[in-house]
Amino acid sequence: MACETERNPLGVFKCQLCALTAPYSYKGQQPPDCQSVVLLEESYVTRDPFTPDRGRFLILGSRCSVCSRLVCVGPECSLFYSKRFCLPCVQDNMDAFPQEIQQDLEKRKVPSTRPASQRSSQP
Ligand SMILES: [Zn+2]
Ligand SMILES: [Zn+2]
Repeated sequence: MACETERNPLGVFKCQLCALTAPYSYKGQQPPDCQSVVLLEESYVTRDPFTPDRGRFLILGSRCSVCSRLVCVGPECSLFYSKRFCLPCVQDNMDAFPQEIQQDLEKRKVPSTRPASQRSSQP
């Protein structure tokens, strides 16, 4: 049963904060072919298309635990702190998060006017 999932994407994951869309092949906490892996949250998962290794998968995103909107795992869209939170909800409940998370978010807030340059020579 598990091997069927990779051939039949369940649907298309769509981040509601950014333009990310991608077909996902599994939704849940235990991706097929990775029996030893248990995710901390119910996630939308797709098989890693860049590797033939069956055990590899990518987490696309999951649902915000507050507003239940679908968000990708990108740092601009969501944060995982024991649960998944979309950034708007984090901003609304900033006081509920520890200092280190708040500081981390301060860093993220830096306007990204420059497109990320793809310098592969730099690690
Ligand atoms: Zn996103
Ligand atoms: Zn939210």
